[in-house]
Amino acid sequence: MVTKKQIITKKDQDWAKAIKERDKVCQICKRSKGRLNAHHIIPRQFKETRWDLNNGILLCFQHHRVGKYSAHQNAIWFSNWLFLNNPNQHNYILRKLDQISQFPQKDYKSRKITI
Ligand SMILES: [Zn+2]
Repeated sequence: MVTKKQIITKKDQDWAKAIKERDKVCQICKRSKGRLNAHHIIPRQFKETRWDLNNGILLCFQHHRVGKYSAHQNAIWFSNWLFLNNPNQHNYILRKLDQISQFPQKDYKSRKITI
């Protein structure tokens, strides 16, 4: 029997694969070798955008998690980078965040993934 958790994992993997196939290289430094990660711009716990390809961007490990200038270490810098380099995606994210923020705050952790 396939569990809900397995289905969610598969959908996460398919989402990451689609981002990799679309972007091919780190969108910030254009590196194509080594560890490349599909990054959720709006965190993946938000079900509304978890598998939305417009909410994904391919980044190298440095620009994803660990660098001084990376999406996880410096959200303000990353937001500004996105605004300058992909204004359509930046605008899309802002619109989605507006919709999500209409939900009561208490729902943040309890909203379940539906598949
Ligand atoms: Zn990079």
